[in-house]
Formats: sequence, structure tokens, C-alpha cells
Amino acid sequence: MSLSEIKSRIAAAETAAGRAPGSAELIAVSKVQPNERVEAVLEEGHRIFGENRVQEAAGKWPEFREKFSDVDLHLIGPLQTNKARQAMELVNAIHSVDRPKLATTLARLAQELGHCPELFIQVNTGEEEQKAGILPKDSDGFIQECRALDLPIKGLMCIPPVDEEPSLHFALLAKIAERNGLSGLSMGMSGDFESAIALGATHVRVGSAIFGERAYSA
Ligand SMILES: *Cc1c(COP(=O)(O)O)cnc(C)c1O
Repeated sequence: MSLSEIKSRIAAAETAAGRAPGSAELIAVSKVQPNERVEAVLEEGHRIFGENRVQEAAGKWPEFREKFSDVDLHLIGPLQTNKARQAMELVNAIHSVDRPKLATTLARLAQELGHCPELFIQVNTGEEEQKAGILPKDSDGFIQECRALDLPIKGLMCIPPVDEEPSLHFALLAKIAERNGLSGLSMGMSGDFESAIALGATHVRVGSAIFGERAYSA
């Protein structure tokens, strides 16, 4: 599928949900994709991208940024505290704030660097053991904790379990965000971004539907 097809499907989903055009931002997830494919999407004028790993992002985006201005880079994968500084210097948003230790590290670094990317708290809506994210029952407390640290919390993020109806998870995430007065909802991927938009997604993270299947999964 092409970038323009995805964009028109997003626009149609916004309209169907009675939402303003452009209210759901498309993050093109470029992890593991060959540089030519990423560059082609940059050439088409798209500027918002998502990467899973700090290392991989640091390996390719400084060069793309020299060639293309106004790149808006989002880290959507798990972040180790020892990579937090590098991440904060590289990306415009982090979608995977998922534990107190990472929150305090980000707060300390924000003081030191004088800036902080926009942050999303990852919620483990499916309560899956192997998955990152704060549990739904702990999320209100963790949001408060992050606010007390003066972190710029934009919203919440989730990755629904593969074998469950995603809309239940999107609805749960939206409910937690609403009761905490958070406006950002990072949810929806290639297979389910339209239902995420119907349930209020402000950021959809779409990879394979734009770039094609990844050579290996990350
Ligand atoms: C890889 C990834 C995506 C994109 O997945 P697709 O199914 O290729 O659209 C979205 N979010 C996260 C956190 C990812 O790791």
C-alpha cells in the first residue's frame, strides 16, 4: 500500500468518527526497513517517523536529518535507562515510559539537558507478562508520579495482545487517559489503525502497511 492510500484511509476514518481532518497523526514506523524505502517516503514529503531501538535510530536518522528538514522522530520501543540520554538527544517523542526508574531518569536528564521530548506512558492493557507497560490498575498513580516529576506527559500508548479484539484495549486506554485529563492517545498499527481512530487515537503507528513487510521482526 502507498503512503497516500494510508493517508486517505486515515482521513476517511477521521470523517467517519466525526473528527477534524488531521487530528490523527501518522507515525511511519521505519524500523528495520531498508534506507531506500525510508528515503522514498521522505521524498514524498512525510516527516513523522517511528523507531523501536535507540541504536538503530541513531544509526540512520542523523544522516536523514541532514538531507531532510523538520524530521519528527518518535521512539516507540522499550527504553533502557542507560540509553535514555541518547534517546533524549535524538528523538522528539518517547512513547514507552513504563516504569518509575525510567521516569526519574528522564526527569533528571531533562533538568540537565534543559529540554525533554514529548512523553507517552505505555499501558499494558492486556496485562501480558512478557509485555512492557504499566498495569491499568497502577496507571493513575504512575501518571501522578510522572506529573510530580514535571515530565511533559502528552498521553498514553498501548500495544493490544495479538489474539484479542484491539478495540477493547483502545477503549480502555481512552478511558484511563480521559479520567487523567490526558489528550494524547498513541494506538493503532497497520492492522487496526481505523478502529483506533474511531476510539480517539491521536497518533497511529503504521509500519508494514506503508513500507511492506519487514525482513525480520523487531
Ligand atoms: C513495529 C511497531 C509498530 C508498527 O507495526 P506494523 O504492524 O508494521 O504497522 C507499531 N508500534 C510499535 C510499538 C511497533 O513496535
